[in-house]
Amino acid sequence: MIFVFDFDKTLTSDHTQGTPDIEFDYFNEKQLKKVIDIMDDIKKTGNMAIILSRGNENKITEYLKIRYPVIYHNLHMILGTSLGLAIESVIESDLEWARWKADKLIMIQNQFPLNKIVFLDDTLINVQIANKIGFNAYHVIYNSLNRTTNIDEIYHRIISV
Ligand SMILES: [Mg+2]
Repeated sequence: MIFVFDFDKTLTSDHTQGTPDIEFDYFNEKQLKKVIDIMDDIKKTGNMAIILSRGNENKITEYLKIRYPVIYHNLHMILGTSLGLAIESVIESDLEWARWKADKLIMIQNQFPLNKIVFLDDTLINVQIANKIGFNAYHVIYNSLNRTTNIDEIYHRIISV
């Protein structure tokens, strides 16, 4: 299986605004542990983890590589944009972004035809569009009260099937 994760607020607890700052911690302790455990498990079980973000691909890569090599080394690929948030001037609506992500999922599917793709994102429309074109997509819900997501619950539900 290929697990495709959105980055901001799906893996992270705080939004990076597309360009994570190496000095800043976007994971709270609880979330960090969940993400490290999930990535570890994906690698251990012979599956694949990909990050798909509308944020800046190089910045996200550099951030994880330097700050969280333990996560970075378990990732197969990081897909993002070259401009980060600046690209918002080109892509204006959430629906267009959802279509952009769906196109990337199709690209991944073409690249790894024998693998089943599971897509997780905290933005509902991204999940809806991906589901609509036939992907298994799950909505990760961010809980601002205890600052955690239920990403581990979703992950364990998927792998137990
Ligand atoms: Mg997000």
